[in-house]
Amino acid sequence: MTRSCSALGCTTRDTGLSRKRGISFHQFPIDDIQRTKWIHAVNRADPKSKKIWIPGPGAILCSRHFAEADFESYGMRRKLRKGAVPSVFLYKIEKIGIVRLRRKKSKRGHA
Ligand SMILES: [Zn+2]
Repeated sequence: MTRSCSALGCTTRDTGLSRKRGISFHQFPIDDIQRTKWIHAVNRADPKSKKIWIPGPGAILCSRHFAEADFESYGMRRKLRKGAVPSVFLYKIEKIGIVRLRRKKSKRGHA
């Protein structure tokens, strides 16, 4: 089964193609405090209970929801920093409903 990113509005799937594009996939932390931070960052409601969505054992987020600074590089490989919390979401829930955020211009080319 192909896993896909758990973020609201994100359709990134864990495929060879995604990985070729440089997207990595990250499981929710096991540590309770860290895991709670991720859950609140994702800010999803469970469609059945209407309560905050709790990730299942195979839930993942793609690297698009993390800032560049959240990663450490080991040669060609990237690893999520300890304590990193996802901060980049296409959709943000506000009182008035779901608001689509404008993405900032990419800062590629800067060190
Ligand atoms: Zn995603």
